[in-house]
Amino acid sequence: MPEQYICKKCGNGGATDYPIVAFRTMTVRSGRKIQKYQAMGEVLNISLCSSCIDAWIATRREPKHQLMKALKYPILLAVLAVAVHFLGQNDLVRWVMCALFGGFALAIAVSEIKRIRKETTEIRAGNGNFTRDHMIEELAASLLPAKHADAHLSYVLRARVMDAKQHGQINREYGISKKKLAQVRQYLMTTPENTVKAWKTINKGENQ
Ligand SMILES: [Zn+2]
Repeated sequence: MPEQYICKKCGNGGATDYPIVAFRTMTVRSGRKIQKYQAMGEVLNISLCSSCIDAWIATRREPKHQLMKALKYPILLAVLAVAVHFLGQNDLVRWVMCALFGGFALAIAVSEIKRIRKETTEIRAGNGNFTRDHMIEELAASLLPAKHADAHLSYVLRARVMDAKQHGQINREYGISKKKLAQVRQYLMTTPENTVKAWKTINKGENQ
């Protein structure tokens, strides 16, 4: 009898178990220099059912909710521009401030709308940075912690990490260096499963 997995999102049975590798990215600022350190995080399994994955993809295809989020700041700026317009003295400074806030609001709004439209096209086509696998990773990430101590966490399907041909694409999606991906792949290939350590740091502190 096949094992029954419980979906982490909806709690229903019949889910598929997805092995996932977490990657930790730490950004360290020292003076003007910004250095990024990447390390392998936890190797874990997450169970997701296909209807939750399909529902996630459906929401991502629909940019309405994303647009609302992205336009929050431009709208705030526009409100500020209007406030400056009505509250200030009738002088040049007020007009300049108003134009400045209004201009920023418009510029941000236009670039955000462009970005979301491009993203939505890619999601609908299921290619570029938004394959079904990437969507599974996004859904998993939404159910898992985003940070560990000071490190930002990215989650990549183990099957993708093990496929060296996908390393370039993973690099484009998450900014994880190809060198680090190769190291983690090597580590997972050569380490017996029961000794794969959670939060193991490979080449700690290595500059990428
Ligand atoms: Zn589910």
